[in-house]
Amino acid sequence: MFDVLIIGGSYAGLSAALALGRARRSVLVLDGRRPRNRFTPHAHNLLLHDGDAPADLAARARQQVAAYPTVQLLEAQATTAAKLPDGSFEVATEAHGTFAASRLLLATGLRDELPPVPGFAECWGKSVIHCPFCHGYEVADLPTGIWNNGPEVEHQVKMLLNWSRQLTVFTNGPATFGPEVHALLDTHRIGLVQTPVAELLHTDGQLTALRLADDRTWPLPVLYARLPWQQASELPAQLGCEITEQVLIHTDASYRTTVPGVYAAGDCAVASPQLALAIAAGNLAGATLSRELIMGS
Ligand SMILES: Cc1cc2nc3c(=O)[nH]c(=O)nc-3n(C[C@H](O)[C@H](O)[C@H](O)COP(=O)(O)OP(=O)(O)OC[C@H]3O[C@@H](n4cnc5c(N)ncnc54)[C@H](O)[C@@H]3O)c2cc1C
Repeated sequence: MFDVLIIGGSYAGLSAALALGRARRSVLVLDGRRPRNRFTPHAHNLLLHDGDAPADLAARARQQVAAYPTVQLLEAQATTAAKLPDGSFEVATEAHGTFAASRLLLATGLRDELPPVPGFAECWGKSVIHCPFCHGYEVADLPTGIWNNGPEVEHQVKMLLNWSRQLTVFTNGPATFGPEVHALLDTHRIGLVQTPVAELLHTDGQLTALRLADDRTWPLPVLYARLPWQQASELPAQLGCEITEQVLIHTDASYRTTVPGVYAAGDCAVASPQLALAIAAGNLAGATLSRELIMGS
């Protein structure tokens, strides 16, 4: 019986494990090794590690956390989680058996839903990017595409004008925004392409052009895409955690979910996905859990 079983051993989960290990709590971290940023060669906007490779960050984080004798790290996919009548939790894994703990921390992240357009997956995280704070500096002032439609295009265009004034919006079908967004595009001479994109042409994930459904080719080195997401794991739903309209696990300010004894931190529970925020959330969730375990609440 562990004090805390953490499902998801990436930025949020390992940060919580560090806080709990330093509080001498027994912790098991189960991790499937599929962090959301695994597609990108460099992590940015993370003080002390700006530009580091995500795989290096993960390896160093695991090494530091594993130094605490009460913390165990296991590369394993958790398949089911259940609350038992005595209030403890049982978690089954694909290939490593079943584990029990008095509390659960979900740090399972989100899964981005990539459109089934040839070339999109290969470019994701390299030249098709989701966030200007993470990757915008490196591609500033280049001809830049925006893969989006609907009223939120207005906010995205206003933001991205800070990084490039050579913008083109690709709506993949008729534009579904109002006249004020059309006026904004006109004011800033921003192109609007409503013809669906048929393929992303690229070299090793570096975008070179978009091929449109009418067979036109549109040269382009960088594309921002705001994609829908899902919870990366079914465990929050299995446990009965409330999921918000934004498809995030609902928590209070101390990272407690709506199921007593289950906590959530990182992307799975916040709307602004950033490494620094996931690390901070894990740290605070670890502190909350430690405090509650020490006080016996
Ligand atoms: C392409 C891309 C690039 C990004 N670049 C940056 C950047 O440069 N800077 C920045 O600040 N942010 C960046 N982000 C955002 C950043 O990746 C996330 O904010 C961060 O990964 C969130 O950390 P997390 O620990 O909450 O979740 P994740 O890092 O997604 O980790 C979740 C972990 O849980 C595991 N898991 C899930 N379900 C189970 C299960 N059932 N059993 C066991 N393990 C499970 C997964 O395998 C994974 O290891 C980027 C995002 C994307 C999509």
